[in-house]
Amino acid sequence: MFNKKSVTDIDVHGKRVLVRVDFNVPIKEGKVGDDTRIRAAMPTIEYLLQHGAAVILFSHLGRPKGGPDPKFSLRPVADYLGGLMGQPVAFADDCVGPSAEAAAKALKPGQVLLLENTRFHPEEEKNDMALAQKMASLADVYVNDAFGSAHRAHSSTEGVAHFLPAVAGFLMEKEIRYLGQAIADPRRPFVTILGGAKISDKIGVIRNLLGKADVILIGGGMANTFLAAKGLAMGDSLVEAESIDTARQLLGEGSAKLHLPVDLVLGDKFDAEAQSKVMDTGNVPDGWRILDIGPKTIDAYAAALKGAGTVVWNGPMGVFEFPRFAQGTYGVARAVANSGAISIIGGGDSVAAIQESGLADKITHISTGGGASLEMLEGLVLPGLAALQDK
Ligand code: AMP
Repeated sequence: MFNKKSVTDIDVHGKRVLVRVDFNVPIKEGKVGDDTRIRAAMPTIEYLLQHGAAVILFSHLGRPKGGPDPKFSLRPVADYLGGLMGQPVAFADDCVGPSAEAAAKALKPGQVLLLENTRFHPEEEKNDMALAQKMASLADVYVNDAFGSAHRAHSSTEGVAHFLPAVAGFLMEKEIRYLGQAIADPRRPFVTILGGAKISDKIGVIRNLLGKADVILIGGGMANTFLAAKGLAMGDSLVEAESIDTARQLLGEGSAKLHLPVDLVLGDKFDAEAQSKVMDTGNVPDGWRILDIGPKTIDAYAAALKGAGTVVWNGPMGVFEFPRFAQGTYGVARAVANSGAISIIGGGDSVAAIQESGLADKITHISTGGGASLEMLEGLVLPGLAALQDK
């Protein structure tokens, strides 16, 4: 199943190992917020240190435009990581060039260095090979542990693998194993839940899942376009007019598998304080918009989840940022946690909902990569994974 070399397949003793991690974490006033992604990289970092490597970490952070910007500096992460590990973590204020080279050269086995944000070089996102080669020149081996960035072909995720022996880290391996297994050979019934704002982002995913899943439960704004495709009036709901034809096609191909909400929670405006009412699925009155799935739908989806062998969930069932319209998302979170199935959750919103519900420990695998896990569900090859050495 997982056919790439990993850190355990190579000798790292005495080597400089360049590790692409996903330290794209929230930073507020110079302090690290949610540290899930940092902790998720620890097994690889610790393994490499224990096996006599000098570890050079690099990552992107946010979306800086066109060059260095202190707002997007990884320096706070170096301090945070040092605290977490109980040992100093050196920092270089560039990911290539003289400061990175000097810091990498000075690094001894057992020591850790973090390089500055790769996106301070605009070439990074163009998968520029000259930049990739400079990154590679810092080390003897490349390890990709940034699952959350593996769907992007950038210099630090793809290009660099052409210039060094390139293998996967433990997080990458774990993510690919869980998701790959679920898609290729799921314990059945295989039930998927898709939500979120837009159907256009997930058409490829639905197409691929129609051939693999037994049941697809649809919620969130994307359900609206399906309901519109059935000829229902949607009031002021979010609808993607240009995707209605595609939605109709998908319903034609997979109506037995695709489940749509049977009732809805409406709001009279897009606002936390909006008036709300519940109605059975039908024509939405003017002046109202769909903001959540209704209680009957939560029950129906929970029933579909009971007895599932495998569950994969991506995307909220409603505008869960507004407590009045969060019941659908939290109801589904509880149903997934109590399903007894192998459960995999991806996407920031669904992951946040399960964590806030206090049910995270009942989930088999919580993915650190929303976009990357969606591309896997879509059946696409992840460039950052494809570039690694085969076993
Ligand atoms: P996505 O990034 O596509 O997963 O979408 C997540 C966003 O979808 C969240 O911010 C939700 O507030 C939003 N969303 C979910 N349901 C609806 C809905 N019925 N109408 C508008 N937005 C929605």
